[in-house]
Amino acid sequence: MSSDTTKAFRVLIVGGGPVGLALGIMFAKSDIDFLILEQHSAIISDSGASITLWPHGTLNADGSVRDESAIFEWLEEQVLYDALGPENQSKVRTGVGLQDIEVGDNDVRVRLSDGSVETGSIVIGSDGIHSATREVMRRLAGKGKNGKNGKDEKIDKSGKNVKDGKNDKMDENSNNNNTNNYSECNSDDDNDDALITTFQCLYGTVWPPPEDLDIPDGGVFFESRSSGYTTQLIRWENGVHIGLFKRIPEPTRARRTFFTPAEIEAYETEFADIHVTPKVTAGELLARAHELERNQAEQRQQQKIQEGGQQEQEQADQPIPQGTWLRLVQQPEGFATRWQLGGRIVLVGDSAIQVTSAAGLGLNVSLQSAVLLVNKLHATVSEAKDGHPDTKALERALGEYEATGRSESAAAAAMSGRMIRGNVWETWSSWFAAEWLVPWVFGYRNVMRKAGRDIASRGRTLNCGRKTERQGSIPWVN
Ligand SMILES: Cc1cc2nc3c(=O)[nH]c(=O)nc-3n(C[C@H](O)[C@H](O)[C@H](O)COP(=O)(O)OP(=O)(O)OC[C@H]3O[C@@H](n4cnc5c(N)ncnc54)[C@H](O)[C@@H]3O)c2cc1C
Repeated sequence: MSSDTTKAFRVLIVGGGPVGLALGIMFAKSDIDFLILEQHSAIISDSGASITLWPHGTLNADGSVRDESAIFEWLEEQVLYDALGPENQSKVRTGVGLQDIEVGDNDVRVRLSDGSVETGSIVIGSDGIHSATREVMRRLAGKGKNGKNGKDEKIDKSGKNVKDGKNDKMDENSNNNNTNNYSECNSDDDNDDALITTFQCLYGTVWPPPEDLDIPDGGVFFESRSSGYTTQLIRWENGVHIGLFKRIPEPTRARRTFFTPAEIEAYETEFADIHVTPKVTAGELLARAHELERNQAEQRQQQKIQEGGQQEQEQADQPIPQGTWLRLVQQPEGFATRWQLGGRIVLVGDSAIQVTSAAGLGLNVSLQSAVLLVNKLHATVSEAKDGHPDTKALERALGEYEATGRSESAAAAAMSGRMIRGNVWETWSSWFAAEWLVPWVFGYRNVMRKAGRDIASRGRTLNCGRKTERQGSIPWVN
C-alpha cells in the first residue's frame, strides 16, 4: 500500500462505545478526519452500564446505613452522540464489526463484517473488553518483527505492574458458546489478553422501579459490604440500577462471556439475603426484576405478532432487551500487554485498561487517556510536512501515549482495586481500612474530597480546544 497524500490523515475508530464517541468529538475539534465503526446496528441502546461519578454513601449488608450522599451525574451515550453534531454523525458506520487489519507502509486497511474495507492512516481500537483490535495486534506482533508473545500485566494492590503466571487456571465450569473467536475461553500463555478476574458482577436495570419496594428516589447511592460480597444500587428516572459483586474463590485468567441459567440462578441465590437498601434485599429486588422481565418479554412478543414480525430484525440487532435486564459478567483487572503496534494500531478504553466497576472509574480513566492520545496525534499531524506523519513519528507519538497513559492509569486502577477489596473485606487490613480507617478516622467526605480533588484537578484538556476560564476552589493543573 502506498500513502496517498492528497487524502487527509484519517483515523479509523473501531467501536462506538463511550470512548469511541468521545474520540470522534475530540478529533472533530482537532480537525482530524475520522470514521467510527460500530458492530451493532444502533449506537444508542439500553444495554450500557450505569456510568456515574462517585463519591457515595454506604450501608452494611445487614441494612444499616453508614453514610448517604446524592452527588451523581449520568453519562449517556446519547449525550456523546448528540455532541458529535449532525455534520459528524455521518462519520459513524453501524452494523460493521472489525474482522482484520492490514498494515501497509503508510496506511492501514480494515476489513469489516459486511465485506467492505476502509482505509485510513491509523486504527484506534476502542472496542471494549473483548477487543478484536487487541487480538489482531497480538497476531500481527507474533508474526512480525516484534514477534515475542508478551503477557498482560496485572496491577497489584500498590499500583505496580506484576507478572502473574500462577493464576492461569481454566475455569472448569466454562461454558462458552459464543461464536466470537475473540471472546473464547483461553488461558494459554500465548494469549495476549491475560487479564486476571477476581470479581464477577451481576448488573442491570430494573424498570419501572417497583413501587412496592422501599427504594428511595433522587439519586441516593447505596452500597453494602460483607465478606466476599458487595452490592451497589441507585434509583434514577430511568430505573433502578444494581450491581451485585462477588469475589470468586480462585482468581482466573480464563475469559467467560457466557454463563448458564443455572450458574446465574446460583449466583443470585448467594445474594438473596444481602440488603441493597436498608429495607430491601437483593432477593426481593431480583424477584421483581424477573417478573418484569417475563412481562416485558410477553409484551414484546405480542407487539411482534401484531406488527407482522417487522420488528424482528431490529430486535435481533439489539444487544440487550429494552426495559428490565440483568447480565452476569466477569470483571477482570489489568492492562493489555501492548497499547500500540508499529505506530499504526493503538488501543484506548476498556480494550487497554480493565478495572472493576466498583469505584466507577473505568470510563473516567479511559477518557483521560483518550484526551492524551488525541493531543499526541494532533501535535504529530500538525508538525508533519503535508499533514502526513511518517510511521516513525507515529510510533514515537503512540509510544509516548502508552508510557504516560500506563503510569497515569496505574494509580486509578490501584485505587479501584483497593476499594473493591475493602468492600468485600478481602483481608483483615482491607476490612479495617474500609470499615474503620476511612469512615471513622479520615471520614468518607474527606477521603473523597482529597481523591476527587486530585483526580479532577489533573483532568486533561484538549490542546487544540478552548481552555475553560472557569475556576472553582480547586484550580486546574492542566
Ligand atoms: C456495571 C458497570 C458499571 C460501571 N460504572 C462506571 C462508572 O460509574 N463510571 C465509570 O467511569 N465507568 C464505569 N464503568 C466502566 C465503563 O462502562 C467502561 O469503562 C466503558 O464503557 C468503556 O468504554 P469503551 O468505549 O472503551 O468500551 P465499551 O463501552 O465496551 O464499548 C465498546 C464498543 O465497541 C463495539 N465493538 C466491540 N467489538 C467490535 C468490533 N469487532 N467491531 C466494531 N465494534 C466493536 C461494542 O459494540 C461497543 O459499542 C462501569 C462498567 C460496568 C460493567
